[in-house]
Amino acid sequence: MLGDGGVCVYVTLRVPSSWPRHCGIDFNSPDEARVDLLTHFGGWSEQLRELIKAGSGPIVPRQVYHLPLGQKWKRRLGLTLVGDAAHVMSPFAGEGVNLGMLDALELANAIIKHGPNIKGCLEEYERDKLFERSDAANQLARDCMHAAFDARTPESLANILFETISGPTVAERFAEKEGKSS
Ligand SMILES: Cc1cc2nc3c(=O)[nH]c(=O)nc-3n(C[C@H](O)[C@H](O)[C@H](O)COP(=O)(O)OP(=O)(O)OC[C@H]3O[C@@H](n4cnc5c(N)ncnc54)[C@H](O)[C@@H]3O)c2cc1C
Repeated sequence: MLGDGGVCVYVTLRVPSSWPRHCGIDFNSPDEARVDLLTHFGGWSEQLRELIKAGSGPIVPRQVYHLPLGQKWKRRLGLTLVGDAAHVMSPFAGEGVNLGMLDALELANAIIKHGPNIKGCLEEYERDKLFERSDAANQLARDCMHAAFDARTPESLANILFETISGPTVAERFAEKEGKSS
């Protein structure tokens, strides 16, 4: 939901990265593009197809990027990363903002604790758990992404989402763990 009451709709296709250039859809003509896009959703319910049909804004094709699992960096004084810069993942887990806010909170707490001691701040913030929770969310995003496109979808995706929604988010799990251990 946008601030002006509008709704922004995302549709996802599993296609080669060159698809936007070769698919034959003219994304500069959104109304025509909407009609062409609907051919990719032929067997879908009319209610869902309506989300594409009813659109009135531009259509922007974007590729989805994610970092590999096990991503870490070598500490450099005076520089660190938070949010997507630290752990960009596909949006399928819905965790990116949560992790970004937790990163910011933890970095702020490290600065409060260590003050001008930058080395201490970074040692506190760039601990294993930063990378562990990034990996956990990245793995969940990968699982959800695969489930979204496998032969059993939508059941497979729904199963993961039901499991995930009934428990804490990855960010909450790691924040809780930290709360208990401190
Ligand atoms: C389709 C989609 C759905 C998503 N759904 C969810 C969801 O449901 N829940 C969730 O938690 N997360 C979701 N996410 C992920 C979430 O959007 C990101 O994790 C989050 O926005 C990351 O915040 P950030 O501040 O780290 O980076 P960004 O939001 O990318 O902010 C970085 C900013 O830096 C600016 N910038 C870049 N380069 C420069 C430069 N050289 N100079 C100045 N400025 C620069 C950019 O313009 C941007 O404004 C989704 C992402 C996508 C793409």
